[in-house]
Amino acid sequence: MRYSVFHVSHHISTKAAMTKEFIYVANWKMNATFRESIDFATTNHDDLLALAGPSTQIVLCPSFDSITPLAQIFDTTPIAIGAQDCSSRAKGSYTGQVSAQSIHQVGCTHCIIGHSERRLLNHESNEEVAEKLIHLLDFDITPIVCIGELLEEYEAGKTQEVLTMQLAPLFETLSALPAAQNKSILLAYEPVWSIGTGKVASVEHLHEIFSWLASRIVTASIPARFSLLYGGSVSGDNAQKLKEIDNISGFLIGRASIDFQVFKKIVQ
Ligand code: PEP
Repeated sequence: MRYSVFHVSHHISTKAAMTKEFIYVANWKMNATFRESIDFATTNHDDLLALAGPSTQIVLCPSFDSITPLAQIFDTTPIAIGAQDCSSRAKGSYTGQVSAQSIHQVGCTHCIIGHSERRLLNHESNEEVAEKLIHLLDFDITPIVCIGELLEEYEAGKTQEVLTMQLAPLFETLSALPAAQNKSILLAYEPVWSIGTGKVASVEHLHEIFSWLASRIVTASIPARFSLLYGGSVSGDNAQKLKEIDNISGFLIGRASIDFQVFKKIVQ
């Protein structure tokens, strides 16, 4: 049976199989070294656990080198660890790439794919992102799929056109994929012009795009469980206003996630 589930109620399966109302994904990018990542995890270990709860899920995404120690530090806790990317191939001669199977083996439950920095700097295509998604679902890793338009596309009123193109191979792949049945997928709308710039789209624009995305997911009839995230200059000052926007079930946070006090303010 084919069906699609869109969780306005923010139900996300976690490593503890708990119902979570809001998810905070910390994308540390290459802003934290190996030692800084471990320092962050050990120094803020107890505070992070205090922040996480039945209505708050936290996913830390350090760079590849720091995944294993962080997964060990937060083993048997509700704090989840995610990778910032994975290969679109299963295995083979792909120098410098890391497979979904490997990130699963080192303890990742989540993985960001299609981040705009990878799309722009590494020329990743929508089709490649869909390939990555297949591998992640094979290993029960929750994909955090990033989509979003450039400034000129936003200014030309082409946001929905761009998102439709970015979503097309994903939806096509997912509708034909038995492994997608009942799997969680986090879809992060990140206007590219908002990332790291301090600029945030108007509440009206975000209302429009998130309700459009929610209805696209319902009509696409995908056999998976979607939650929608917002990303782009989330800060302690704008988090509350953004949380109130319908259909936003979480944030993907870049710069602000590397400073624990700022991250804490966003979560609280
Ligand atoms: C990001 O890179 O996904 C992001 C949202 O970054 P920032 O919060 O710094 O805008």
